[in-house]
Amino acid sequence: MASFKALVVESGDPYTALLRDVSLDELPPGEVLVQVAYSSLNYKDGLAVTGAGKVIRSFPMVPGIDFAGTVLESASPDFRPGDEVVLTGWGVGERHWGGLSQMARVKAEWLVPKPEGLSLHQTMGIGTAGFTAMLCVMALEEHGVGPEGREVLVTGAAGGVGSIALAVLAKLGYRVVAATGRPQERPYLESLGAAEVLERAVLTAPAKPLESERFAGAVDTVGGAVLAGVLPRVAYGGSVAACGNAGGAKLETTVFPFLLRGVNLLGVESVMCPRERRLRAWERLARDLPLNLLDASVQTVDLAAVPELAQQILAGQVRGRVVVDLG
Ligand code: NDP
Repeated sequence: MASFKALVVESGDPYTALLRDVSLDELPPGEVLVQVAYSSLNYKDGLAVTGAGKVIRSFPMVPGIDFAGTVLESASPDFRPGDEVVLTGWGVGERHWGGLSQMARVKAEWLVPKPEGLSLHQTMGIGTAGFTAMLCVMALEEHGVGPEGREVLVTGAAGGVGSIALAVLAKLGYRVVAATGRPQERPYLESLGAAEVLERAVLTAPAKPLESERFAGAVDTVGGAVLAGVLPRVAYGGSVAACGNAGGAKLETTVFPFLLRGVNLLGVESVMCPRERRLRAWERLARDLPLNLLDASVQTVDLAAVPELAQQILAGQVRGRVVVDLG
């Protein structure tokens, strides 16, 4: 395939994201050439494709912070033509041409073998969002939050990270409370395993520095006022895995949950996650995410639909996960 389709972002005025033919020699250097089968749409891709957030570091850029596909050429002993591989993070789609393209050329060390038990499509149903959800679950576990304790909270529950965190935690036996600004998504959230659906407004209403102790832990994908509303409700010794800022980057809170209840605020970062932890998170996803629930929370679209969906994800209107089919 000497030329292929890719979404290409240019920074001029106006900022554009256009589908065009790209040739192999336009791809950046790297040891492995991958025929991309699927990419996915994450919040950060929404920022990159629309230009609403300055996530792209050089132009022109092919966005797409994750992809799954088949190796076509490899100068690395770790991969051979025909191997199925997955990539999330490492600045791909931000600093290095990404997955919203039928071909990608990348560093070998950025790739992981497709986890056993998952199809290429399912790996992108999970994508960066689901990978991050699992890193959040692992962080809570490592801080002693277990299914036998009090209930746990997931914020932004109808979004990508939230949906997968909810489904995994419920499967692991936690009693999960799903916080959402979209009460119409209650049936969806219950189908993923939510024991209770909490209106987002409960968390953003003015709160005392310490409210009644309720949650053993939380996965927060929203940040801002929502995270500020979570912290006073976490029980003694509990932990909050904070990974997102879809609702704002500023955190106005008090130190009392930390000082008087020993609450832990755990930062979760997926882009530079070390390889060993990456492999462990993928293994856990293959084991602990019910695939029927994953399949039910995914919509599959083609590349041409991405610019419109990028607007929708920033408006908080996308439910679950979007897989982009590059076939
Ligand atoms: P989605 O848009 O799919 O989900 C975000 C959810 O947050 C929405 O579905 C909505 O949930 C809620 N939300 C959206 N806007 C607002 C708002 N203004 N106020 C309050 N809540 C809002 O995005 P993703 O799941 O892909 O990503 C979630 C967050 O995690 C993003 O901030 C993203 O950048 C971050 N992220 C961070 C990573 C890391 O490495 N730290 C990796 C991956 C993602 P509902 O409708 O249920 O209320």
